[in-house]
Amino acid sequence: MNAPGRVTLVGAGPGDPELLTVKAVRAIRAATVLVVDDLVSNGVLRYARRSTRVVHVGKRGGCASTPQAFIERLMIAEAQRGEHVVRLKGGDPFVFGRGGEELEHLRAAGVEVAVVNGITSGLAAANALGVPWTHRDHARGVMLVTGHARDGGTAPHWPTLGAACAQGLTLVVYMGVAQLGTIVAGLSDALGADTPAALVQSASTADERRLVSTLAGLVDAAQAAGIGSPAVLIVGNVLTPLQASASVDDSLRAAG
Ligand code: SAH
Repeated sequence: MNAPGRVTLVGAGPGDPELLTVKAVRAIRAATVLVVDDLVSNGVLRYARRSTRVVHVGKRGGCASTPQAFIERLMIAEAQRGEHVVRLKGGDPFVFGRGGEELEHLRAAGVEVAVVNGITSGLAAANALGVPWTHRDHARGVMLVTGHARDGGTAPHWPTLGAACAQGLTLVVYMGVAQLGTIVAGLSDALGADTPAALVQSASTADERRLVSTLAGLVDAAQAAGIGSPAVLIVGNVLTPLQASASVDDSLRAAG
């Protein structure tokens, strides 16, 4: 019987390899098997040893993907063979990353598992815009919400979240691009048409694009600019300082 292996769920951050934590780099170097999500940038893989086996598992936006159960079985089998499996996930493993589910299933199978945090893409998106989530003049908290309802699950009640946003909670929506029209319509119940709203696509990467608009103008502006996944939506008064400067930011002007 081999010495027991283990699994480390590692946050690979939003894309820029320099945003990896030291602990993440160490884990990637120590891995004998890397199981890599498709939102993980290739630059992150440069820290792996040559001998490390790299398995890419994608599950992007409803496209053909590796079933979650298969990924979990693979990790369990490799760990039981004595491998050190590092599961690389975009952003942070515990922010809409299924890290919690994987942790439970691995533990239930008797596999030793640890988690290394990463910088979540919503935080990188705010930084790309040059605003904090919680500037104390504008916000007293932040809500991280998924725009994508789980199969059979209920979608968030956007009017309620809009009301919370009006109370000074910055709203950060992941996986919301496909539902943008529905989200904006729901939020508009409680928020004024001129509430600032922004989209950041591929935050922290060379492909980063930023769009700053109002709630009322966002859907048309996003369509005109061709903003697509992966992108984070940010809504709230922390964006107010940006509105004075531009409706479409420089990166989009240059791209357009
Ligand atoms: N665990 C990840 C989120 C996974 S859900 C994290 O902490 O960031 C996938 C969603 O994350 C995408 O639909 C998109 O909303 C967002 N996302 C991931 N990488 C991104 C990036 N570089 N820029 C903007 N949004 C990103």
